[in-house]
Amino acid sequence: MTATLRTLFLNPPSYSGFDGGAGSRYQARREIKSFWYPTWLAQPAAMIANSKLIDAPADDLNLAQVIQMSRGFDLCVIHTSTPSFRNDVLVAERLKQEYPRMMIGFCGAHVAVLPEESLNASTAIDFVAREEFDYTLLEIAQGKPFADVDGISYRSNGSIQHNKDRELIGDMDALASVLDVYKRDLTIENYYIGYLQHPYLSLYTGRGCPARCTFCLWPQTVGGHVYRTRGPESVIEEMARAKEYFPQVKEFFFDDDTFTADLPRAAEIAKGLGKLGITWSCNSRANVPYEYLKIFKDNGLRLLLVGYESGNQKILNNIKKGIRLDIAREFTKNCRKLGIVIHGTFILGLPGETKETIEETTRFACELDVETIQVSLAAPYPRTELYQQAVRNAWVNKDAMVLGDGTQSCVIQYPELSSEEIAAGLNRMYKKFYFRPRPIARMLVAMAKDSQERNRRLREGAEFVKFLWSRPAPKKAVPAPVAEPKLEQPVA
Ligand code: SF4
Repeated sequence: MTATLRTLFLNPPSYSGFDGGAGSRYQARREIKSFWYPTWLAQPAAMIANSKLIDAPADDLNLAQVIQMSRGFDLCVIHTSTPSFRNDVLVAERLKQEYPRMMIGFCGAHVAVLPEESLNASTAIDFVAREEFDYTLLEIAQGKPFADVDGISYRSNGSIQHNKDRELIGDMDALASVLDVYKRDLTIENYYIGYLQHPYLSLYTGRGCPARCTFCLWPQTVGGHVYRTRGPESVIEEMARAKEYFPQVKEFFFDDDTFTADLPRAAEIAKGLGKLGITWSCNSRANVPYEYLKIFKDNGLRLLLVGYESGNQKILNNIKKGIRLDIAREFTKNCRKLGIVIHGTFILGLPGETKETIEETTRFACELDVETIQVSLAAPYPRTELYQQAVRNAWVNKDAMVLGDGTQSCVIQYPELSSEEIAAGLNRMYKKFYFRPRPIARMLVAMAKDSQERNRRLREGAEFVKFLWSRPAPKKAVPAPVAEPKLEQPVA
């Protein structure tokens, strides 16, 4: 095996509870403590023998601790995001100050689309890895000269060089499994998602999504629109190993953008999972036919995470969702009939939103009566179609996508609908959905059945109520957390 630099993969310390790392679709601190797995960093880490992965937010590590743990590494790769970028630059600068010889690279959707601006933000960043960065980072760790590495931008002789793009990975089966890195470097009990059983474990079986939703970050920046997948046999073999490595895991989540995009393949995998006796869940669109849902349910599927986005057909058309409300209703009924739990996600503030459509979406969510919901504020990430539209039409009213505590900030507005009204709609929608007898009864039943579940729900309920009542509709976004307390601590 080729010798490699000692490489640290870092999801840096940030806002308390900030889930801005790889795997999170909406980069913000959520209403309740939530962390996705840093799978995008674990993937290249699995390809470099002497690497280490540190997930600071999930492990509740502050900058001083991270700096200490970074000693001895030759290369540090930081996964960044648009909302956390300024914060992550500060982390890079502190690392460079402490370890001047350490090479520092950034990766993630933000630097993929803004490489020049990202490098100009600080001389502490030696390079940015654009597009899919697994093999890019492997080559850098192997000591390949920057000039010969596809997919990077870097400084050379006082100017910024952009090497040619790296092609998307065609053979997903050639990628190493992330499981050994999870086992070696992560504390899986630290990963919580409100609607998944705890502890859960998530990974990808493929990348890219064929749908064209205008707001969606990953397919338009890093993953592309072709669903590139691992073979069913290799997925089943990996899941057998996952079960053996992590017997305490109660639920396995496939974080592919849309695991159900290739239904025959998903069914083949499901049948293998059924034989393993695994409880699993995945992302899905609201259009899976009954016969496939049945196969999934019969083979261990517990939950689908479904992006409904809006209860207004015109808005769905505006964002190219490619879903009809009547199909979404039918799909939801079928899931209920089969006993498949749904976590429904919605977005307020998409093009065409009015005060009336916010109410329509709220009524739609209550009518569907899925188990749990998540409401996000439309976020125009650079390079997405929504971003181009928002800039062209002057809909963006500020640039900080998160507030000072890391929670969502509404950066979009329309001539007839202000950011404040959209943000207030989010609070109202949560209250109208959750303070109905049925969700309350569901919660009480779940708590009565299981004492562990009771403690968790009580904690999450308290966090959620605090979120709803302690944070009135934001009037003004504040810049990213340069004064984040964790970053203020001196390096020990
Ligand atoms: S279906 Fe989901 S993952 Fe695919 S583009 Fe739309 S929002 Fe993104």
